[in-house]
Amino acid sequence: MTPPRLARRLLTPDPGWTTQADVIVVGSGIAGLTTALEARRAGRVLLVTKTTLQESSTFWAQGGIAAALDPGDSPDAHLRDTLVAGVGVCDDEAVRVLVTEGPKRVRELAALGAEFERTDSGEIALTREGGHLHDRIAHAGGDATGREISRALIEALHAVRADPNIEVIEHALVVDVLNAADGRACGVTLHVIGEGQRDGVGAALGRAVVLATGGIGQVYASTTNPAVATGDGVAAALRAGAEVADLEFVQFHPTVMWLGRSAKGQQPLISEAVRGEGAVLRDVEGRRFMVGRHELAELAPRDVVSKAAVQAMAETGAEHVWLDARHLGAEFLEHRFPTIVARCREAGFDPATDLVPVTPAQHYASGGVRTDLHGRTSVPGLYACGEVACTGVHGANRLASNSLLEGLVFGHRIAAELAAGLPDQADPAERDGSPALLSNDARFYVQGAMTTEAGVVRSGTSLAAAAERLARLGAERVTDEASTEAWETTNLHAVAATLVAHAALREESRGGHWRADFPERDDAHWRGHLLSRLDPDGVLTTRYQPLPAADRPAEGL
Ligand SMILES: Cc1cc2nc3c(=O)[nH]c(=O)nc-3n(C[C@H](O)[C@H](O)[C@H](O)COP(=O)(O)OP(=O)(O)OC[C@H]3O[C@@H](n4cnc5c(N)ncnc54)[C@H](O)[C@@H]3O)c2cc1C
Repeated sequence: MTPPRLARRLLTPDPGWTTQADVIVVGSGIAGLTTALEARRAGRVLLVTKTTLQESSTFWAQGGIAAALDPGDSPDAHLRDTLVAGVGVCDDEAVRVLVTEGPKRVRELAALGAEFERTDSGEIALTREGGHLHDRIAHAGGDATGREISRALIEALHAVRADPNIEVIEHALVVDVLNAADGRACGVTLHVIGEGQRDGVGAALGRAVVLATGGIGQVYASTTNPAVATGDGVAAALRAGAEVADLEFVQFHPTVMWLGRSAKGQQPLISEAVRGEGAVLRDVEGRRFMVGRHELAELAPRDVVSKAAVQAMAETGAEHVWLDARHLGAEFLEHRFPTIVARCREAGFDPATDLVPVTPAQHYASGGVRTDLHGRTSVPGLYACGEVACTGVHGANRLASNSLLEGLVFGHRIAAELAAGLPDQADPAERDGSPALLSNDARFYVQGAMTTEAGVVRSGTSLAAAAERLARLGAERVTDEASTEAWETTNLHAVAATLVAHAALREESRGGHWRADFPERDDAHWRGHLLSRLDPDGVLTTRYQPLPAADRPAEGL
């Protein structure tokens, strides 16, 4: 397959204004908010976010945040479960950082004001989700954990607004990362709506840039991610010369409410925690299709359940399977899952009395901008944190409730790294190559190609077709009218093309990457990462990096 050729910068009007800070943080989910709050000790922080502070996947998170808080649990046990879910391609060191620093960070978040549910004795109450062999999921507001974490962090931000070391601009979409002549990151171009003097396209210069832009969900027609999740950070990092890794590992959540064939964009998620509390899955003929497929049945890792659901749908000719929570009772469901119950009822299904139709939909990007243990990307001065990053903790499939934790833990680590010393401000240099932009009508076609040809099940043939469609879209659907929609669409296209290139190369099935033509996991050839960057001509070059020989804690990891 010919590697895709992508734009090295987006068509953008010349900046009409310039601002400056020491650290520029892009995004206001758990990763961006944590980094910004902590990094103000390193210098002046400018936090910019695409719409409002609240709008993020973080806000929508339901289940909770995982950490070995129970005395009977341990970071080692959490590590083991994470490695199992990651199907052999996690970076062990990154996982160890996550699980070891996690408990302290979750307690700090609680001390900051996040009101997790508590036991009668006042401890943080813990529940279990798919792939965890111990109760270690802290949750809040029943099934509104993300909303509570977002609230607590935004309140903490408001509390320090008087601090001259922190400034926030909402409705500020970052278009590109600026590079200095020596390649390092030295700021961003951004488009701001309605901020007085800082309106329209501007430049924010900084000594370090932290991308915390979240996921890529809108690359697919149906996703649990909000509209802001258009992969902007991954695409901007690629254009800035950074390496991205493992984009082929896409987590499709098995229980997203099915609202009919025409439903597009963000769809309602029914958290794993509902299965954690005892709900089961049935095919449309009433059979529990997870029993006998995996020792954890409905609580098997998400890729296993999604694949089984797709197979059950194919076998029965249905477009969904059923989630059966009826035996849990109205009182329990309403208390434990108030948001989910309300959303189901709104759609016409009462989980206390009805089966609820569910289907897999895009949920999480396990890959992203490649970073080390301190959030550093391959471009000096450019950091990535949270879902946009690939720290290596998720491998081929993220373990439930590990992503909020990743943003929290690595946000702290990046802030510590920045506090250790920032370089001098550099001047931005002009980037080679002609700028490009795709018109918004390409978005629909990108999503269509990705959903039918690079979704839960892929094959060499379907991926070649997707690559061809994407190449054609890139050549034909161009525009010279810069707009939010066009910038986002061009980013979606770049992420899709990279994801397809990786998925075509990886001739095996593992975690969130299922090849119908290579159904087995192949450790001999594919126990490692695929890493891509754009060469100076905008051609995507990809290399394979095997993981070190395994010193694994258990068989089969
Ligand atoms: C419905 C749902 C339920 C989930 N449940 C859980 C759960 O229970 N537990 C768990 O651990 N994980 C869960 N996840 C995953 C988890 O919520 C996310 O992975 C995590 O919140 C990502 O945090 P983040 O800070 O990296 O990104 P986000 O929270 O997505 O924040 C990204 C921010 O970047 C901004 N942004 C994007 N592009 C730009 C741009 N170009 N310029 C400026 N700003 C930009 C966005 O507006 C947003 O503010 C869930 C996700 C969803 C969608």
